[in-house]
Amino acid sequence: MEDKAPWTRSLRARIRQERPVLLVALLIALIALAVGANKWVVLGLLLLMIVTALWHAVPIIPKTELEPVPKSIEAPGSHLAEVTATLAALDIPVIVLSGDASVLYQNLAAEKAFGEAPIGAHISARLRSPGVLDMISETIATNAPNQIEHSERLPSERVYIVRSAPVRFEGQEPVNERYFVVSFRDISEIRRIDRMRSDFVANASHELRTPLASLRGFIETIQGPAKNDAKAQERFLGIMMDQATRMSRLVDDLLSLSRLELKSHIAPDEKVDLVPLLGHVRDSLVPLANDVGVEIALHLPQGEAEVLGDRDELVQVFENLIENACKYGQEGKTVDVFLKNGQGEPVEVTVVDKGPGIPAEHVPRLTERFYRVSIEDSRSKKGTGLGLAIVKHILTRHRARLIVKSEVGKGTSFTVRF
Ligand code: ADP
Repeated sequence: MEDKAPWTRSLRARIRQERPVLLVALLIALIALAVGANKWVVLGLLLLMIVTALWHAVPIIPKTELEPVPKSIEAPGSHLAEVTATLAALDIPVIVLSGDASVLYQNLAAEKAFGEAPIGAHISARLRSPGVLDMISETIATNAPNQIEHSERLPSERVYIVRSAPVRFEGQEPVNERYFVVSFRDISEIRRIDRMRSDFVANASHELRTPLASLRGFIETIQGPAKNDAKAQERFLGIMMDQATRMSRLVDDLLSLSRLELKSHIAPDEKVDLVPLLGHVRDSLVPLANDVGVEIALHLPQGEAEVLGDRDELVQVFENLIENACKYGQEGKTVDVFLKNGQGEPVEVTVVDKGPGIPAEHVPRLTERFYRVSIEDSRSKKGTGLGLAIVKHILTRHRARLIVKSEVGKGTSFTVRF
């Protein structure tokens, strides 16, 4: 709704609002006069600056002048306390306005989100978004609820559904009091999750489409140009097998992730001794380590190292970390696995390689789905880009942390702290 208030009515509010700009304009004019500028030119420019500042002031909500407005919560006989008592307990920002759009009350959540506001000040001194102000003004004029989406960039990017609605009293309607509630529902997190979900679907389809396209290509070749070429057919079938295996690895990882998401809120409660578990993981990875010329050295403490967990999932975590260390830290030749089980200290497993390391800018993003430092490198090493995302999910369920330290040229260490 456009601001249709006559200038005379909103002029005072505009001047109040633009006071800093007007003071700066006046100061510039005085300086210009002091240095000997033509006084008519200076006066003309000053007038122009004042008119521009006031013209561009945020639309001011017209005063409805329908009723006297209670200025504080304690106003005798006021229904305001009734309105605000419940709002104080809410964790979403809420502001209560009078019929002339003055702020009568804001709850703690609003104060946290937008800072303190002087009670009694006009809402335009608090919120500058023309869209929100127009909506409030329409609600006041029509006595009907409205809502809009509003985003803020500072101090951090947030998206709100802002709703303005009149407060209606059951039974006897107070004649001289009108209250309006402006609430802010923060949907930034929902937006972020939506974006992540659609990115994920796009990434997963892309990852599956590449091997699928290559399979189709080879099938067409075998049916056509290589129909009678037994040697070529054998070679192509080998590649097709690799691609099919890659697709099933990807599907397995996707299923793993979705199963983990389903039970992410249930903490595992089985007692698992990490000493034999790490021995088992090392044994299962020896063939791969031999293939890439790496030796896996286990450094285990005396006795047991028990944690509450899910055995199969913990095997998956350490298999992923040690396999990554062998694949990506191949040139270091050794991978060390340390198990720490100090008295009163958290149980810790650290997997260390002496490979090329990971540049610092990639480290915070390693556990994102499909994030890879080098896609080519990961593909050639049969990676899916989901290994560390799975590790992170499992560890979150186990209330454990993953700490990554890496130095380019020296190597990388992944620590799991229970
Ligand atoms: P992938 O299936 O590609 O191995 P991961 O989620 O297990 O996916 O790892 C993500 C990326 O992190 C890898 O592609 C690789 O670039 C990097 N990475 C993981 N572990 C190491 C390591 N020990 N040394 C160097 N880079 C690593």
